[in-house]
Amino acid sequence: MKSKGITVKGIPYMTGAHVYNEVYLDDVHIPSKYIVGQENEGWAVVNVLAGFERSNIDIVMGLVRGLEEIVEFCNANNLSKDPLIRNRLGDIACSIEAVRTLSYYVADQQNRNEMGLMDAAAVKIFSSELLEKYAQIQSDILGPFGIVKSSPWAKMRGTAEYNYQACFVPIVSMGTNEIQRNIIAWYGLGLPRMK
Ligand SMILES: Cc1cc2nc3c(=O)[nH]c(=O)nc-3n(C[C@H](O)[C@H](O)[C@H](O)COP(=O)(O)OP(=O)(O)OC[C@H]3O[C@@H](n4cnc5c(N)ncnc54)[C@H](O)[C@@H]3O)c2cc1C
Repeated sequence: MKSKGITVKGIPYMTGAHVYNEVYLDDVHIPSKYIVGQENEGWAVVNVLAGFERSNIDIVMGLVRGLEEIVEFCNANNLSKDPLIRNRLGDIACSIEAVRTLSYYVADQQNRNEMGLMDAAAVKIFSSELLEKYAQIQSDILGPFGIVKSSPWAKMRGTAEYNYQACFVPIVSMGTNEIQRNIIAWYGLGLPRMK
């Protein structure tokens, strides 16, 4: 990152967070001893990295914790007997358990150096769309508390406000979910590749 020709420009989120940057590489020269993998085989390296990024176990475990916290919130706030809330929580709990199992399967493949491109793409789609669903449920259940982030009135550590604004991110980043579905169709199911 200290090489001549590298420029980093921050991309602030509308939430005020700074997580991402634009990185410009202008005529940057790197000694050949730093090549990762083989010369002209960079795409294979990128594919493995993309698989790691898409396997998203951090999002999955965030969902597991989020579900525990929202159940606690409902129990503590006289909401746990509402049939609509019970129905939505029961529904998302099934999906969270399924994606947790799938993400452990992918982590196990990675641990054995058997990178499953299709399975990583499947976790990416499943977990990102669940995060969006979770953010919607969390914000519906918290009501006005859901828009409060850092104040004594904030519930669930103020996460609802952030989740609601940022839950679209994993649907787009790491390659959009439409592209992941294309990868699954081609690479996983053997359908013809789209140009
Ligand atoms: C918060 C965030 C963080 C990011 N972080 C990084 C990062 O760290 N590094 C990095 O390199 N990039 C990063 N990106 C960029 C991200 O990978 C791209 O935005 C993403 O891959 C989509 O590409 P695009 O924006 O060019 O959309 P496009 O490719 O122009 O797609 C536009 C729309 O058309 C659809 N579409 C496009 N082609 C097809 C097709 N063949 N079939 C069906 N539908 C299609 C897409 O699904 C999408 O809905 C980030 C993006 C976001 C939002």
